[in-house]
Amino acid sequence: MTSSISERITTIRASLPPSVRLIAVSKTFPAEDIRAAYAAGIRDFGENRIQEAASKQAELQDLPDITWHFIGGLQSNKAKKALELFDWIHSVDNLKLALRLNQLAEQLGVTPQVCLQVKLLPDSNKSGWSVPELLIDLSALNQCKNLQIQGLMTIPPLGLTNAEKINVFQNTYKLAQEIQAQNWSHLKMEQLSMGMSGDYQLAVVSGATMVRLGTILFGNRT
Ligand SMILES: *Cc1c(COP(=O)(O)O)cnc(C)c1O
Repeated sequence: MTSSISERITTIRASLPPSVRLIAVSKTFPAEDIRAAYAAGIRDFGENRIQEAASKQAELQDLPDITWHFIGGLQSNKAKKALELFDWIHSVDNLKLALRLNQLAEQLGVTPQVCLQVKLLPDSNKSGWSVPELLIDLSALNQCKNLQIQGLMTIPPLGLTNAEKINVFQNTYKLAQEIQAQNWSHLKMEQLSMGMSGDYQLAVVSGATMVRLGTILFGNRT
C-alpha cells in the first residue's frame, strides 16, 4: 500500500456511517502505528494477545483516552490480566468463561463491556455459542451482574459468498432483536461487533455497530 495509515483511516472513516464505531485492530503492529492511527483520530484499538497488548500499552501510557478491545480467544488463566488491560472483551465465547470473568470482575472492582461471540453457522475453526446453546445460557448470563453485556460478536466462516456472509450478519442482527424482545433485566443487545477488512461493508449494511479493521488500515500482517 502506498497510502499512509492516516490517509487510509480518513478514507474509511468517511465511508462509514458516523454511528459505527471503528476499532483499529493493531495486533502484530508496533506502538508507533497505534500512534499514527491515534493522530488520525482513532481512540478504539483491538488486540488479541494479552502479553503483546500489555507491552504496547506500557509504551503508550501518554495516550490516556484509548479504549482497548480484546478480540482474541481468551484462556481462563489470562482472564484476570484481560480485565486489567481491556475495557471491552468482544470474544466471550462460552458460559464458563463468562462466569469466571464475572467472578474476577467482582474481585477487581471492574465492570467490563462484553460481547457474546456467536456462530450462526457451524464452524470448527472458531469458538463461540451456537444459537440454541446461547438461548439456553441467557438466564445464567443475565445473572453476571459485573459484566455489562452489550451485544453480540460474530465472524463468518471462511469461504462464504457475499450473499452467504450477508445472511450470517443479518441473522446475527435478528438474533440480537430476538434476545432483546425477551426483556432480560441485565442483557443489552445494542451492539453488533461484526465486519473485518474483507467484509465490513456487508456487515455495516446488515446492522453492525462496531467494525474491527486491521489489514485495511495497517497493511498485511507477516
Ligand atoms: C485479526 C482480527 C480482525 C481484523 O482482521 P482484518 O481482516 O485484518 O481486518 C478482526 N477481528 C478479529 C477477531 C481478529 O482476530
